[in-house]
Formats: sequence, C-alpha cells, structure tokens
Amino acid sequence: MLFKQKMNRFLSLVALGVLGVFPVSGCSSSAETATVGGAIPSPVISSPPVEQATASTDMLSFEAWREGLRREALQRGISAQTLNKVMPTLQYLPRVVELDRKQPEFSQTFAGYFSRAVSERRISDGKAMLAKHRQTLERVVQQYGVQPRFLVAFWGMETSYGANFGGFSVLSALATLAYDQRRPEFFRKELFAALAILEAGDISPSQMVGSWAGAMGNLQFMPSTFRAHAVDQDGDGKRDIWGSLPDTFASAAKYLSDEGWNASQGWGQEVRLPSGFDYSLADLSIQKPVAEWKRLGVLPAAGGALSISDQTLASVIVPAGAQGPAFLVLKNFRVIMIWNRSILYALAVSYLADQFIDGPRLVVSPPANEMPLRRADVEEMQTLLQQLGFDPGTIDGMAGSKTRNAIKAFQQRAGLIADAYPSLSVLKSLRKAARKG
Ligand code: CA
Repeated sequence: MLFKQKMNRFLSLVALGVLGVFPVSGCSSSAETATVGGAIPSPVISSPPVEQATASTDMLSFEAWREGLRREALQRGISAQTLNKVMPTLQYLPRVVELDRKQPEFSQTFAGYFSRAVSERRISDGKAMLAKHRQTLERVVQQYGVQPRFLVAFWGMETSYGANFGGFSVLSALATLAYDQRRPEFFRKELFAALAILEAGDISPSQMVGSWAGAMGNLQFMPSTFRAHAVDQDGDGKRDIWGSLPDTFASAAKYLSDEGWNASQGWGQEVRLPSGFDYSLADLSIQKPVAEWKRLGVLPAAGGALSISDQTLASVIVPAGAQGPAFLVLKNFRVIMIWNRSILYALAVSYLADQFIDGPRLVVSPPANEMPLRRADVEEMQTLLQQLGFDPGTIDGMAGSKTRNAIKAFQQRAGLIADAYPSLSVLKSLRKAARKG
C-alpha cells in the first residue's frame, strides 16, 4: 500500500490503466507481486514503460552514493547515532533491480486474477481471522469507523494475513532503487521516510522487513504512508505494523478513514444492466445518483431492487468488458483505489470482505476462456487506433486510460458496444477497419 499513495500518484502519470496498475504500485503490489512466495501477480493490464538505466559509467559507486545520502540525512534531522547504525547495513541488492525491471508480458484477465486473489482458501482463512481477532477489530471500529471485514480483506490481499511480508530489508531495497537510475527521486524520498521511522524508534533496522519495492509489514505500507497514517493502538509507544495486530488494524483503519471512508456504506454491489444499455457510461469517471442509474434500468444482479439510497453517488464498471459482470460502486470503492489504483485489486478487496459475511457470490462469471493480451497486441491496437485517427496516447503496449478512451471512440464510430475494453475481438475489428481504410 504504501506504495500506494505516492507511488500511485507517480504511476498515475505513467500508466493510467483503468484495470491495472503496474506491479509495484500499491500496497499490495508489494508482497503479492513483487516478491517471495507464490503470491498473486498484480492485476496488470498495463504497466509503465521500462526506461533504460543510464549507462553506469557516469554513476557514483554505491559506497560514494551512500556517503552523499548520509550527509543529506543529517541535514534532514536524522541523528548521527541512527545513521551510524543504519548506513553500514545498506546493501545494493541486484535482485531488487531485476524485479523492478521485470515487465509482465501478458495482461491479467479478471478471471485469472480473481481465481488467485479470492480463492476459497483466502475466504475461509479470512473468516477465521475475523472471528479470532473480533475484539481487537471492534475496538478499532469504534475509533475509526471502518468495518472489520474490510480491514481483514486488505490484510489478506497484502500479505495473506501476515504470512508473507516480502522478505527484503526495506532499507537496502529502497537504497538500491534510490541509487538506481529509473525512479531515484521517488525512492530517495521513501528512504528518508524510512530513516525517519527508525529515528522515531518505531522499529529496528533489522526488523524493517518488506517487499523488494519497500512496502512494509502486514499492510505493505510504504514508509511515507506509514508516517502519514500509522498509529500505536496497543499503547507501547511504537507504531508496529510488523508485530502488533492492534497497530496493524488501526493503521489500516486510520488510513482509510483519513481518505474518506464511509462506515455507513459498503463498497457497492454486482448489478445487471438492461439490454441496450449505453456502455460508454460504464466508466469510473462518470458518477450519477443511484436514482439515475435506476432510471436507466440498473438492477441488482441477484434480483430484487437496489437498496442503496437514491441520492448516493455511484459509478457503473465492467472490468471484464460487456461480456463480464457489472458493478455499481460507491465512495468506499474509490477509497480502496487510493490504497491501490487497480480496479481488479479494489474489486478483490470488496468481494473478499463481503464473502467473510457470506455476501452474494458473483452472478455473472467473468469470461473464463478470455485470452490475456500480449504487450504486442496492445501495441498493435494502439498503432491501428492512431492510423484510424484516434488518439491512443503513447504507443507503449499498455492499455491506459487514453488507449481505452480511443477504443471507446472507435467502438462508437463502428457501431460496436462501447465498453472501452481492450480485447482480441476489438483488435480484430480494428484490423478490419484499417484494411478498409
Ligand atoms: Ca504499538
């Protein structure tokens, strides 16, 4: 998560994929995608371009760079005592750079992502955790007003309920990425935030464990997110998102609450769209009062009438295109996307949370036989869109928001269902249209 905020903002400049975020991005990205263990690959439908590292000839040695870092840290108020302890332990980790350079060749499909992220095992483990930590969670709820099922769902998504923090020294991972030439400013800031956490005495350097990208502990908070939102709930004077579950749950709740969580609402629900529905309205950037969606014929997928109050603002989304399930999503869904910009991640957290209280299962399954797109497919799509006079943004093999908007415009012009969803069938239609000239 941590990554979450800063990184998300950073990433948003690079890859505004409606569905996906680049693996490193969210809190979640961390343990899940980044590291050890059979974690879940992040929901990537797009990822930012790999910039070539500049030739290392003009780079300082890591040791010389570390000296410069130490001087700046002193200026920023980190004590010599702390630095004497930490600096010698900072290592350059080639594995971290390797993971950072790794680009997924295929996009994630809804079905593929969900089968891993929302497994039966994760649901049953989460139910058990919710029961086991009920008292701790209730106290957090009273204070921050975030429903316990969501806190446990984040925990499950980030680290499989604490089973996988990532296994890297956060300090060395951040130092490596700050020294590296790809995104040095972002990671240098996070490294100073990590040093400030050590200076405050929340954790010792050797216990500061996390993902290859520097996301820490149970919640995979980036250091800057930790500094902004972490709290000491158990009263031992330390904000400990590694070893203390009260601190972990309260920090997650504080973060969500700070970002505008509404405890009187859930996240939304699966809906059924009427035939003839204008799919160009299925877009997170479009919000309408529930009354308006009702007027357009939107109904709960499971039957009955929408029980959300008429004035509530909501968006309709179709994360697997018009062929897959549709959802009506509320403010809290947007808050989840501040934690991690991926729609698939936000849906997984939401759905998982509801499964813990035996909420409805998906009524419409995502297309199970959908082929993931290769980067080359998306590049071809972008090239064809450009040829046909649409603006897909940079031709980079990533289906970001510009590319999706261009797909939507093409679909509208071609009389196709305008769901903006990049699929092989859209690619075929584009090829056909380009041949016709
Ligand atoms: Ca504590």
